[in-house]
Amino acid sequence: MDPSLSVLLKQADALHQKSFSTVVSFERAIFFSWGCTIGDCAFCYMSTQPADKPPRETKRSTESILAEFVLAKHLGWDIGFFTGGIGVLTPDEIESLLKAATEIAGEKVWLSVGPVPKILLQKYLPYIKGVVGSTETINPLLHKKVCPSKPLEPYEKMFTTSRELGLARAMTFIVGLGETRDDLDLLKKFISTHDITKIHIYGLIPQKGTPYEHAPIPTAEEQAWWIAQLRIAFPMLDIQCGIWEDRVERVSLLLQAGANSISKFKAIKLFGSAKARQIEQEVVKAGRTFRGSLTVLPTVDWDAKIDQLTVSQEMKEKMKKKLELYLKEMMQGSQSLTEE
Ligand code: SF4
Repeated sequence: MDPSLSVLLKQADALHQKSFSTVVSFERAIFFSWGCTIGDCAFCYMSTQPADKPPRETKRSTESILAEFVLAKHLGWDIGFFTGGIGVLTPDEIESLLKAATEIAGEKVWLSVGPVPKILLQKYLPYIKGVVGSTETINPLLHKKVCPSKPLEPYEKMFTTSRELGLARAMTFIVGLGETRDDLDLLKKFISTHDITKIHIYGLIPQKGTPYEHAPIPTAEEQAWWIAQLRIAFPMLDIQCGIWEDRVERVSLLLQAGANSISKFKAIKLFGSAKARQIEQEVVKAGRTFRGSLTVLPTVDWDAKIDQLTVSQEMKEKMKKKLELYLKEMMQGSQSLTEE
């Protein structure tokens, strides 16, 4: 490792230990669609949906979304945010899902649905703790290239309004889009200007069919550099690191760089897999404790948990069926780990 990075990590780790407990959580972002009306961000898999597929037809079923909230709750996963393609759901649909989601989660959730105007933030206020701006990159020229139809200004406006309404503000940053380390000052300024309290530091996942399909994934050291720099500049900032199944071995490094939590891993599909187990081991390697589980299903009376909710009886039955399918898939993963 570059000796200067090693010094940086030491400083960041010490600051993290001073500001936070050793607990590391897994954060699940819950999606309501796989299509988006913007559809031209250069890195995003939602930009690869067939042009003849209307975005509104890419909605997930309500029961599948809500069943995932139930799973996350009882596996000890935090809800990173509730999200999906811009313009796919109506405000009433978002409100209704948020209402059910907060009942299941037992707390308000973060919302990431593009730049939301004040009138809608007020509508969602009883259910959200804050808004996440999917800002992706802060360099203005790069941003224009990467997100041609998703400018930063409306997000900045949303952050200002959120502040007035007492909502917290979070943002995303993807390492590997073409930023340079000189952009760090711009990022720090953006965080300070909008009093951002949480940042999601992802690493580029090259998606088939996008201009980044053949781009290299950022190294672990590069992702760690950004996290460490932010930890040092903002000791109290909540920093989440995004990983993927091809890079679980970097978790300990990213935690030592000052990250608080982990996200992006396909936690249901890969539940109980060797990769999932490696993540939990990486947390221990970093001297931290993992909250919840990616490998062991808890003993829960799932039907009883769903019966407690105030959604309609019809929805409860649909949720139970959906949850059963998820659990079956996850149980297979758990068993394969036991048999290894
Ligand atoms: S707005 Fe978000 S979801 Fe839509 S294409 Fe861009 S990055 Fe993807």
